[in-house]
Amino acid sequence: MPLDRRRLVLSAGITSAAFALDGPLALFPAAQAAQFNNTTEPSVRRFKVGEIECIAVNDGLWEREHAEDFIANASVADTKKALEAGGMDPARISMAMTVMIVKTGGKTYLIDTGTGGEVVKTAGTLLNSLKLAGITPEQIDGILLTHFHADHIYGMMVGKTDERIFPNAQMIMSETEFNYWTQPDIFKEQPERRHSYIRRIHSFFPKWKNMCTLVAGEKDVLPGVRIIPAFGHSPGHSAFHISSGKDQFFYLGDTANIQALFVPNPQWHVFYDQDGAVAEASRRKLFDRVVAEGAIACCTHFAWPSMGKISKDGKSYAYTAV
Ligand SMILES: [Zn+2]
Repeated sequence: MPLDRRRLVLSAGITSAAFALDGPLALFPAAQAAQFNNTTEPSVRRFKVGEIECIAVNDGLWEREHAEDFIANASVADTKKALEAGGMDPARISMAMTVMIVKTGGKTYLIDTGTGGEVVKTAGTLLNSLKLAGITPEQIDGILLTHFHADHIYGMMVGKTDERIFPNAQMIMSETEFNYWTQPDIFKEQPERRHSYIRRIHSFFPKWKNMCTLVAGEKDVLPGVRIIPAFGHSPGHSAFHISSGKDQFFYLGDTANIQALFVPNPQWHVFYDQDGAVAEASRRKLFDRVVAEGAIACCTHFAWPSMGKISKDGKSYAYTAV
């Protein structure tokens, strides 16, 4: 059995006890089948990275029709072909919305916060998933942010009021990301369609600055948790590396979009990548690191529960859900 499977201890569902992956192999057929079940239902997946307890929590899904501009350098026909080859329904694009709980140093942290129900009707169930996990918003001590796109930050505030949903949470994020989105000149640089979203960022992040720890470069930010610059998808997009003992796990955020498309085709540039070439370089670098470490990787929009093993496949990569 590959080392990574021995290293990561996973459990499925909320009631079952944790078990080592080199234990009952019956887990795998069920887990493989579940990979294509993006769902709007509140859902959780508990697992451990060494001594660190993690819980994947579902915020829902985002489905969109095919469009020629969804991937800058691939056609709709290529996209459908890759979805089918990856075992996904080729009829449309279906993106999961997976947020992560990390319990370390006696505290409970969220990585990203989902859509807040404000991006698409089929997403926004994060608080219900947290309830299923037995966690109240008040119990969240901190929030780590991968980046400032709406589907990752709107879950922090109540509707349009900017009232905080997680009143006790300090926040940790890339300094580059914070400075980029809060600069006054950004409206000149960004297209009109993003302006209302940027005005929203300007309405609360500066007010909340005393709750934000801004980090430059790759650094330990919590016991067992490092922030890793993975720029390109957004100017300061970051990944998080979780380790305890010999166990390793990477929350890669939007370093890659859907697994069936962007793991075998890391050269494809998704519509949401602000700088496609830089994002591709970050994607390849992080994938190589995941492979070298024999770790499990999680990307927000990989099919629920959004985590799997990445392996080298010639000049490209292959994905196996866990
Ligand atoms: Zn996203």
